[in-house]
Amino acid sequence: MFIDTHCHLFYEDYQQDIAEVIARAQSADVQMFVVPATNHETAQQAIALAEKYPSVFAAVGFHPLDLEHFNEENFKKIEALMSHPKVVAVGEIGIDYFYDRSPRDMQKEIFKRQIEIAVKKDMPIIVHTRDSVDDAIEIAVHYAKAHPAWKQNGKRGVFHCFTGDPPQAKILFENNFLISYPGPITFKKSTMPETLKQIGIENIMLETDSPYLTPVPHRGKRNEPSSIPLIAQKIAEIVGASVDEVANTTTRNARLLFQLP
Ligand SMILES: [Zn+2]
Ligand SMILES: [Zn+2]
Repeated sequence: MFIDTHCHLFYEDYQQDIAEVIARAQSADVQMFVVPATNHETAQQAIALAEKYPSVFAAVGFHPLDLEHFNEENFKKIEALMSHPKVVAVGEIGIDYFYDRSPRDMQKEIFKRQIEIAVKKDMPIIVHTRDSVDDAIEIAVHYAKAHPAWKQNGKRGVFHCFTGDPPQAKILFENNFLISYPGPITFKKSTMPETLKQIGIENIMLETDSPYLTPVPHRGKRNEPSSIPLIAQKIAEIVGASVDEVANTTTRNARLLFQLP
């Protein structure tokens, strides 16, 4: 079985057919879903889905592209939602220098504050980066080293849609972070396969980032969790493993990170 560790199932795109989307994924053996929110409102929506579907789990946090919603009151709301039994992580949080929608210092500051809450509550983090891998690693690793008890017996978080190189991946693995790969690993121009070949599958997970990042051969269409097997197949091909091995390793990692059943 597979787990989609990153899909935004609360978006409008799924309003009409969410039950079918989930059923379709389950027939493709994608059995659990982690749905990261982007602000205090989508956090409520992600939790509502998790309450409705036993296979859905939520993460709550402020996405670096959604910081116009960030204020002390909304931050407190997010913190309160972290105690919900189906919230399994703080996310998605991080830094995005590609769109640069908020000042970089502000992005880093809010990223740090959200990691501080994760540390305090002993929860893992889901990290978004774009053109910002080095800065995000520096911050996350700083907290890992400063708080050795944080997720001591598990994993501290995931750098999703990982575009970094093998040395960057190595630093993350040494500090008990995982990475996850989405559909672009199937794209011709992707640098992900070269990195994956060197780092192997031991510390990776699968994700779709639905509704974005649709893999080959469905590029251009809405993405959904049922495309996870296409990503697993490509990963198996790249590293010379069987799809079963990829499924087993990535599912084990997702269970460990998010404490899933
Ligand atoms: Zn992201
Ligand atoms: Zn995302």
